[in-house]
Amino acid sequence: MASDRPPHYDILFEPVRIGSKTAKNRFYQVPHCNGGGYRDPSAVSEMRRTKAEGGWGVIFTEQTEIHHSSEITPFIEQRLWDDRDIPALAGMAEAMKSHGALAGIQLAYSGVNGPNLYTREVPLAVTGGPILTFTSDPVQARAVDLADIADIRRWFKNAARRAKAAGFDVLCLYGAHGFGIFQHFLSPATNQRGDEYGGSLFNRARFLREVIADIREVTKDDMAITLRLSLHEPGPAGLGNDELREFIATHPTLPDAWDLAQGTWEACSGTSRFTAEGAQEELVRGIKALTPLPVVGVGRFTSADAMVRQVKSNILDFIGAARPSIADPFLPKKIEEGRFEEIRECIGCNICVTGDMTGAISRCTQNTAFMEEWRKGWHPERARPKGKSNGPVLVIGGGPAGLEAAMQLGRRGYKVALAEASRQLGGRVASERLLPGLSAWGRVADYRIGQIGQMPHVETYLESQLTVQDVLAFEPQHVVIATGARWRADVVSRYHLLPIAMDKAMPIFTPDDLMAGRGPHGGRVLVYDDDHFYMGSVLAELLVARGCEVDFVTPAPVVAEWTKNTLEQVRIQRRVLELGMAVHTSKAPATIGGTSVSIACVYTGREQELAVSAVVLVSSRTSNETLFRGLAGMDLQSAGIASLRRIGDAEAPGPIAWATYAGRRYAEELDEEPLGDALPFRREITAFDPAQDHQTG
Ligand code: ADP
Ligand code: SF4
Repeated sequence: MASDRPPHYDILFEPVRIGSKTAKNRFYQVPHCNGGGYRDPSAVSEMRRTKAEGGWGVIFTEQTEIHHSSEITPFIEQRLWDDRDIPALAGMAEAMKSHGALAGIQLAYSGVNGPNLYTREVPLAVTGGPILTFTSDPVQARAVDLADIADIRRWFKNAARRAKAAGFDVLCLYGAHGFGIFQHFLSPATNQRGDEYGGSLFNRARFLREVIADIREVTKDDMAITLRLSLHEPGPAGLGNDELREFIATHPTLPDAWDLAQGTWEACSGTSRFTAEGAQEELVRGIKALTPLPVVGVGRFTSADAMVRQVKSNILDFIGAARPSIADPFLPKKIEEGRFEEIRECIGCNICVTGDMTGAISRCTQNTAFMEEWRKGWHPERARPKGKSNGPVLVIGGGPAGLEAAMQLGRRGYKVALAEASRQLGGRVASERLLPGLSAWGRVADYRIGQIGQMPHVETYLESQLTVQDVLAFEPQHVVIATGARWRADVVSRYHLLPIAMDKAMPIFTPDDLMAGRGPHGGRVLVYDDDHFYMGSVLAELLVARGCEVDFVTPAPVVAEWTKNTLEQVRIQRRVLELGMAVHTSKAPATIGGTSVSIACVYTGREQELAVSAVVLVSSRTSNETLFRGLAGMDLQSAGIASLRRIGDAEAPGPIAWATYAGRRYAEELDEEPLGDALPFRREITAFDPAQDHQTG
């Protein structure tokens, strides 16, 4: 293929063997969840197909439960419980292979991690005990006996046979992140057995050796086997990095490739606020010297130079990626063709993870097509052809919603005018990127500004605070309002639905004030967080950096409660405590006085007085809808305006990903026939089949 890439990057496009299979390049999409799983097989297949089209050499499914005696409800992954699960997975394998990638399936038996809330089976674990998962289910597992171990070995064999029938090239055995039974056997923390499967590392590895030998009997040379293991399990009894290296050194050719991921899922999928690109390098460096097999590693890699360095320094053979492949399924192709400035870099926000954690379907802040490839027919790179309108579309507001709308309208070929009140594009991310730990947020604006900069039919007007008269004078055919939102200067949010008494003598600040450089630079400050996402703790951190003493008050039982869904909550609470803040959980202001705030326990109502010199309220936001309301009240038809819409925070405030999605949706639907009451996306419905018989395992 003709390519503008400098030869320096050629190494990323060398073929690499995994057992009997050969990957066409070093780009390896490691297994990742997507909140769709078995419930949305077509949506997941089509999502994986875009990765194939985007040039990945190896593409995996998310974790696939091999047997009904181990499942992780409420989280939605894949299932291979009996032969009826084969067709959907065969469709997935076909999609993965559509452009020459190897199709991989990750097999999981969750053991002490699976509460079996759906199947009601008694969980089976290496050593019994309470189920270890995010949801603290009051369920315990029983320890497996030798007959159970023989059963589980047979279930893996059955799963391998079914995976082969489905057309997969590679099997990944899941033993990382604390989630798979292979890790539970290997780790002294979860394996306290006294028989031949416990004790020495050799004994703890016995199950793994047996399962791999069993699977090879089924797969022969038709499939390759990879082993996904944690590089370092935390805790005093965890399988540490030294012991992992010992395991690899003593079993150097056990699988066909080593797929190594940082310890817990929280560590492995760290957000950009806490974890830099390539963060697991120290844990994986040197492992290649212990084994002749290829080594896969992750690190939220979006920089082609960082990838080349990993390979050239002999750290990794494959560049593993989950989130970078979600944010830009075409990452390999763009590097291959030297289109570096077109890479849509992951911002490390973990909104994608929240889709899995909440049992919804995942979305991505950067890639608005993620999981909408089949549901809505959206594509990460292409937009549908232009509709009938030829007049200009006026996009008002250059935040994430307005930028995405302008870019996608531009891709469809519309004439676009983007008006922004301030001196720069970016809206909220232009401000938030300057906050502690959030610089990667800026990529949301940078990518889109770069794209529309190459579109002569998309014109940008800065310092253009438009009024109703300005809009009419412009004579647009369509108007879309993306004027964003502002933080409220009172406590109204979830806990307080109405304002409380506030003494005017107390200086009150909002996040917008702090982001504009206003607010306290010393003294004792109360931060009230009834938003529960990142903003409260980030601003508290900013205030500490400004020399303030901070009282962090939240009605939730923990700091930044919703961030358990982005895998950040523990790190945020640790950061807040380590910065010396006084943390008041399950408390909310009852009254705000001139020199103090009375906070009340949300359970008992008991009040406590905190003497502070200022209050920062992180409560909720109000849409900037003056312009929309002004225009909505007019006879737009006679002004020649065919449609008026508001999108993003101007319609209803939400996370950045909600705004980019709204921008995409507006652009996709312009000139389309209204759907009326019909569902605006495709979905699958569980087959209704009351007469069906039990299937044998
Ligand atoms: P969203 O997240 O929905 O994109 P943001 O708050 O990030 O919302 O961005 C809204 C943008 O709209 C801001 O950059 C703001 O300066 C701009 N804006 C607000 N009102 C007007 C207006 N009347 N004319 C032009 N731009 C506006
Ligand atoms: Fe990256 Fe955020 Fe997209 Fe996930 S949602 S892939 S973390 S940009």
